[in-house]
Amino acid sequence: MKVRKTLKITSRTSSVTNGFVQAIIPCFLPTDEESATALAVLGVDPDNPTCVYCGAPATDWDHLRPLVKGKRPTGYFTGVQNLVPACGPCNQSKGGQEWRIWIKGSANGCPKARGIADLQLRIAALEAFEAWSAHDRIAMRELVGAEVWDDYWARLQAIEDLMHAAQREAIFIRGKIAAALSKNVTEPGTKPAP
Ligand SMILES: [Zn+2]
Repeated sequence: MKVRKTLKITSRTSSVTNGFVQAIIPCFLPTDEESATALAVLGVDPDNPTCVYCGAPATDWDHLRPLVKGKRPTGYFTGVQNLVPACGPCNQSKGGQEWRIWIKGSANGCPKARGIADLQLRIAALEAFEAWSAHDRIAMRELVGAEVWDDYWARLQAIEDLMHAAQREAIFIRGKIAAALSKNVTEPGTKPAP
């Protein structure tokens, strides 16, 4: 049986950061025609879509270039020029990594480590796709203006600062409560309650 130990408020900062990042990244779902064009560039059969990384049946659209790096948007977004068919295990194994590093890496579940036979062909197809969609990136800060952009991230920083301050207060409050309880239970010089 497990007991959930005391959590830190600051253990939630990554969720808050992720919310700030995801909330501003646009999502343009591809039309069927756009998907067909992208699959043709990748050499994937639209009637039997397979994972571009390993060849297993595709179940997901994976973001080829990560949307997030270093807790900030990369400038890539959800759109036909950044979506490739993938299987669930590859999608999860790749996560937010650069595809080139991941695909030839040694991490559990990556195509090289799994000994996928036609890896060079797959890399060539992905490079063709990358060249086809090379302009798919937004300079977000320039687009919205530095003032708005910097204000937005200052709000995140303010929330993180508040969370850290609240955590310090939480430690103090928990200490007081624990001290009060232990005082009742084992006050020095008295016998513990039966
Ligand atoms: Zn796969």
